[in-house]
Amino acid sequence: MIKRLDHDIAMRIAAGEVIEKPSSVVKELIENSIDASAANITLYIEQGGKTSLVVEDDGTGIAQGELHLALERYATSKIDSIDDLEKISTLGYRGEALASIAAVSRMEIRSRQGNSDSGGLIRCEGGTVTICTENPCQAGTRVQVEDLFFNLPARRKFLKTASAELRRIIQIVNDYALIHHEITFRVHSDGKKILEHISADSMDEVLSRRWGNETRKYFSETSASSCRVMLWWNPIPDSRRVITTIFVNGRRIQDSTVKAAICSGDCAAHGEWVVIIDMPPEQLDVNIHPTKEEVRFRRSQEVFKLVYDSSQSIFARRFSSEKTGADIEPNIFQAGTEPNIRSNFSDRSQYLLSPYPWKKEDRTSESRVASSEEHVFFPSETQEPGYGFENRKNYIGQTSKGFLIFDFTDGVAIIDPHAAHERILFEEISESFSDNVVTQNLAVPVEIPGALLPEIALDREDLNRLGFRDDGAHLTGVPLLQGKGRLSPLDMLRSAIRGIETEHDPSKRDREVWWRLARLACRDAVKLGQRFEKEEAEALLERLEHCRVPYTCPHGRPTIFIMDNKKLEEWFER
Ligand code: ADP
Ligand code: MG
Repeated sequence: MIKRLDHDIAMRIAAGEVIEKPSSVVKELIENSIDASAANITLYIEQGGKTSLVVEDDGTGIAQGELHLALERYATSKIDSIDDLEKISTLGYRGEALASIAAVSRMEIRSRQGNSDSGGLIRCEGGTVTICTENPCQAGTRVQVEDLFFNLPARRKFLKTASAELRRIIQIVNDYALIHHEITFRVHSDGKKILEHISADSMDEVLSRRWGNETRKYFSETSASSCRVMLWWNPIPDSRRVITTIFVNGRRIQDSTVKAAICSGDCAAHGEWVVIIDMPPEQLDVNIHPTKEEVRFRRSQEVFKLVYDSSQSIFARRFSSEKTGADIEPNIFQAGTEPNIRSNFSDRSQYLLSPYPWKKEDRTSESRVASSEEHVFFPSETQEPGYGFENRKNYIGQTSKGFLIFDFTDGVAIIDPHAAHERILFEEISESFSDNVVTQNLAVPVEIPGALLPEIALDREDLNRLGFRDDGAHLTGVPLLQGKGRLSPLDMLRSAIRGIETEHDPSKRDREVWWRLARLACRDAVKLGQRFEKEEAEALLERLEHCRVPYTCPHGRPTIFIMDNKKLEEWFER
């Protein structure tokens, strides 16, 4: 028998489409505050928003007489007619968010319009209004949401831990603070202020807060007809992922077209991307997803091409600056060359006149293991250090390209000093890993970028165990690493936070962080082309000999090429 669901149940089901978790409430409320032209948006979160969350703004406010309407489904001040749906310029337009939140929580709104003497208050429990009255309050709007999903126990059970929910909320605030940098955002959690984004004048300024001042960011802008694409890239050295934060007409969205455009070139796009796209509202359909997190581009080919072109010009810039050495980031593969190196690698073994001192198969399989990244951290224990290097190692000199040439007992060896140094730094740092990490106190504490503070608070226990120390605003100690790596304390911290967040299994977390630090250390490797004195070249070879996997860098590229004397003789028909 087909029955009509009660209005109450229907509302709860519909609400579940829009509101999945505390961070979805935060997203909707922040968007409302932005639409209301707020200059300050402040959040008060309890228990990751599971027990209570408040979003307060100093925007235009809601007239007392309209408060009950704000809670009604499909009641909005943002569009009037079906035509408006074609060209939406506000973040909200469906009049669904407040009604949905109200249906699944205990909610209270206090609001006053700036030009009005008195404000209003409305309370609602599981969708039923309990109070709606005049109430003196500050200009602006304060929405309080308590006991989210109290009447949808199944949904409540699926909420993550308070800290996981808080992390998501922080991410949303960090993202909106980026695109709306004219607004000051503050977040308090369980009674403490944990995040503050003071309004900034430019994207550059907010990106520095997000990524740190010393991080080299790449920027590119492309436009065609009325569409403009701006791209910023932070090629995080230890990242194995491509993270995109995308805004279209000020709306934070997920989009596979944009991500595909960034990743579809030949270059390794690892790291964090911020993508801002502005286009006439009528070229965009924002009405395809309940939470408005996906959009449809009416001319998606054009968007793809613009993003692709922009990312290509960024890769080109990075590649050229690496070549000239203008940019101190020899970290990941040289953009533009990496895929070729990888794909040609197995073919190239045929050019080795002899794969001495390693069998050809060994060498390729080892490279494969090394490049699979999971296995590089602790190279095989059974392998003898320095395996395969011969006794006599006379340094002959350096080629104009920068390769180092040695005369070995059984052949001529050519070393790529960059790859070799990467391997050395990687292994030296891997070896610092033990259960008792020692902290090195920083002589000058380093200020922590604001965007990172909440994450430090969340991860403090893990960070402390890994050797990091802070005083709430400054980094005061970092794990002591062996070797000669010169990692910046903030890079180490960021890398560790990323490791903690990506590895959900606590037993593997420390190892993940250490792996990242070691990878990060590769950034400090000498450049190919740097001139070597004889002693330096010999010292490099000696350190390489002591590595457990001396013949590939941590990314799997070869460090050494050996021409066997026998093959040489054959070649010269001796
Ligand atoms: P939508 O944003 O899609 O219009 P909402 O349910 O989020 O729908 O909000 C309903 C209406 O309540 C909005 O159209 C707006 O008029 C009003 N409103 C909500 N939040 C605020 C706020 N923070 N400041 C001013 N007005 C608000
Ligand atoms: Mg809204």
